[in-house]
Amino acid sequence: MARHLSVIVILAITAFLSLSFLMNFGSRTDQVPQQWTAPVDTSSQQGKSSAPDLMAGLEITSELLTGDVIAPKLENATAKAELGRASWKLLHTMMARFPEKPTADESQALKSYIQLFSRLYPCGDCAKHFQSMLKQYPPQVGSRNSAAGWACFVHNQVNERLHKELFDCNKIGDFYDCGCGEEDKTKGAKKEYKGQAETEEESGELKKDG
Ligand SMILES: Cc1cc2nc3c(=O)[nH]c(=O)nc-3n(C[C@H](O)[C@H](O)[C@H](O)COP(=O)(O)OP(=O)(O)OC[C@H]3O[C@@H](n4cnc5c(N)ncnc54)[C@H](O)[C@@H]3O)c2cc1C
Repeated sequence: MARHLSVIVILAITAFLSLSFLMNFGSRTDQVPQQWTAPVDTSSQQGKSSAPDLMAGLEITSELLTGDVIAPKLENATAKAELGRASWKLLHTMMARFPEKPTADESQALKSYIQLFSRLYPCGDCAKHFQSMLKQYPPQVGSRNSAAGWACFVHNQVNERLHKELFDCNKIGDFYDCGCGEEDKTKGAKKEYKGQAETEEESGELKKDG
């Protein structure tokens, strides 16, 4: 009888210890620290009704577009110049590829891009200047011609401030012919850029605030 009792006690203790071990182990795996989380690949969920709203929580407000510059001052002059060359190339090529007759949505997209570009430009001191220039000369986004003319004009404003040679904006169409293909040419979409003041469709001249 005493032998049976001790076997039962041993079994009970073993069961208790196993159970508490399992509970403890389970809770620890939940607490594994994650220092880096891989981005979620949502491609397999696209089109399904349960797909997450990719833009959830994003609200494009004027505060978002015109808020303070984000990057710090860029001290290194070589980095500043390299960044500038690459950025101007991007900006002018973007204008050269912009539709000749954009939809309202496309014009809004370009305007928002330029505003956010000026906020996020990685040279903080350049970005500050650029933001104040945008207030004075708001981006012209009514057509490819006006956008390209505007970009040439503001680039020249920066050139002037840095005591660099000014660019002839009449030549910008040829200069940023990015190899966009014959399609544009045959449709007659590639035109001479006639300079900011002459090409602005909405106002006929550069808008100058304040
Ligand atoms: C938004 C922005 C703001 C900047 N602000 C500052 C600043 O505050 N201080 C600073 O030190 N640097 C600034 N930079 C960098 C500066 O403008 C130059 O990019 C950099 O000094 C290198 O100059 P670069 O002489 O090599 O030619 P870039 O001015 O970089 O021009 C590159 C090429 O574009 C062509 N080009 C020149 N002018 C025009 C034009 N008007 N339209 C079209 N094409 C043109 C020329 O072929 C030129 O070689 C800024 C850059 C950007 C994009």
